[in-house]
Amino acid sequence: MVDATRCLDTAPIWKQLADYVPDAPRLRGSAGADLVVVGAGLAGLTAAYYAVRERPELKITVLEAGRIGSGATGASTGIVGPGLKIPLASLRRRYGDTTARAAFGASQHGVNLLRELIRTEQIDCDAREEPHTLAALTPRQRERMAAHLMHLEQLGFGVEWLGPQDLVERAGPGYVAGFSYENVLLVDPYRLLLGLAGALRRRGVEIHEHSRVVDMQPARGGATKLYTASADITADRVLLAVDGYAQKLNPFPNSVVTIRAHVLATEPLNSEQRAALGWNGRGGIIDQRNYFNYYRMTADHRLVFGGGPVVVPTGDPVPDARTADAVQQRLRREIGERFPILKDVPVVARWTALAGSTEDRLPVVAPVPGRPGVLYAGAWCGHGLSLAVDSAWRFGRTVGGSAADSTLPWTRLRGLALPKPALEAGTRAYLRMLDLADRHDLRTGSPKSREDVSGRVAPAEEGLFS
Ligand SMILES: Cc1cc2nc3c(=O)[nH]c(=O)nc-3n(C[C@H](O)[C@H](O)[C@H](O)COP(=O)(O)OP(=O)(O)OC[C@H]3O[C@@H](n4cnc5c(N)ncnc54)[C@H](O)[C@@H]3O)c2cc1C
Repeated sequence: MVDATRCLDTAPIWKQLADYVPDAPRLRGSAGADLVVVGAGLAGLTAAYYAVRERPELKITVLEAGRIGSGATGASTGIVGPGLKIPLASLRRRYGDTTARAAFGASQHGVNLLRELIRTEQIDCDAREEPHTLAALTPRQRERMAAHLMHLEQLGFGVEWLGPQDLVERAGPGYVAGFSYENVLLVDPYRLLLGLAGALRRRGVEIHEHSRVVDMQPARGGATKLYTASADITADRVLLAVDGYAQKLNPFPNSVVTIRAHVLATEPLNSEQRAALGWNGRGGIIDQRNYFNYYRMTADHRLVFGGGPVVVPTGDPVPDARTADAVQQRLRREIGERFPILKDVPVVARWTALAGSTEDRLPVVAPVPGRPGVLYAGAWCGHGLSLAVDSAWRFGRTVGGSAADSTLPWTRLRGLALPKPALEAGTRAYLRMLDLADRHDLRTGSPKSREDVSGRVAPAEEGLFS
């Protein structure tokens, strides 16, 4: 195991703990398929899975630029729970209650689907039924949380506040209020992907690693030809499941902005350290600042701790080492502030990963303009582990012949329209402003509206990534 204090970036802890996996072959020559899925993260692999289950006779190929799990999924914290990034108040106001209910329901459906998939395919990924607790640090955060619970109740998804004792057991000391979602799975996200890849291969799906798609061109009969550096493949249908790693393949550069998130993992905690946490070590926890912390335990009792400022990367996809180090140092301090017994605990992994987000904090599932048969699904705004699976399932149904479902607010007919430089600059400014609001809230315990810090009013709970 690496001593992560000596390096700027290591592999995510899940990869460090996994067995060696041989490379899958590159795409070679000139090939053909009924469906090509670009990207071997959770969105791409589950889409291929539901497609092949619907139509086992189809030739389905997955192309991955790096290795399976080299995107956000394999670097995530593996908390698969319900929830949306957009505040429920905004969602209801903009789309009405029927759509809001369907959207939140889709996030629950994604959890149910993944549970079923893991069971059916007997995927060994340390899947555990444990709660996801949202915990408020200040009265201001409790206020926002109360509004959230009210909207949940009115939409028919009622959740109870936790009592003080339960709150400490579920999240640790120092919080003023909290509640838990119970329909939640904790997984080792990398082993989940490896298991999914195995299930796909058993069904005849081809997976090619080191096969970055660099270009797409229309081909005869409405098909699309995809090019890698040394090969090509022509398909009737294409799904771009590339999320924050899309680079030039992002068909909606004016809508989808890439953000970088940071995570640390400690060495295994001993029983004395665990007893001193207060928290019972079960479940996922997320606090309610804009720049929140989120944490969970691995099967061998390592604390996986993420959060801090998210960054709009400049040198995509290579992290800016200085910025990444600053955020990770901040996370290191925050581990000690949250759990004083862990102030000096060795950190054995520190990593960053990219994810797609949007200005309206809703994902994008949309046909790519001017490219018949090509669909994009991504920008999960931090909730991809359930939303991607639900979207993949819906995609599978269309492959099976059902009409595309347009009831969800992220099933879009076109991208959003902000010029890219304005989107990135605006996002950076907005992220700085969120951090200021957090600091003020923690210092004073009193609300400071976004208007105070930016001249622009934004509703609560609007951070780009939670
Ligand atoms: C640090 C971190 C923690 C997170 N924790 C959680 C969590 O606990 N719960 C939760 O719900 N969500 C979490 N998220 C968000 C979640 O991980 C993502 O929303 C989700 O994993 C995205 O899945 P995906 O398959 O769309 O993308 P990815 O997993 O990023 O996969 C995209 C794949 O596409 C490949 N690719 C890109 N371009 C090309 C190309 N041109 N050709 C071929 N392949 C290409 C990439 O190499 C990559 O493997 C977290 C995100 C981060 C960054």
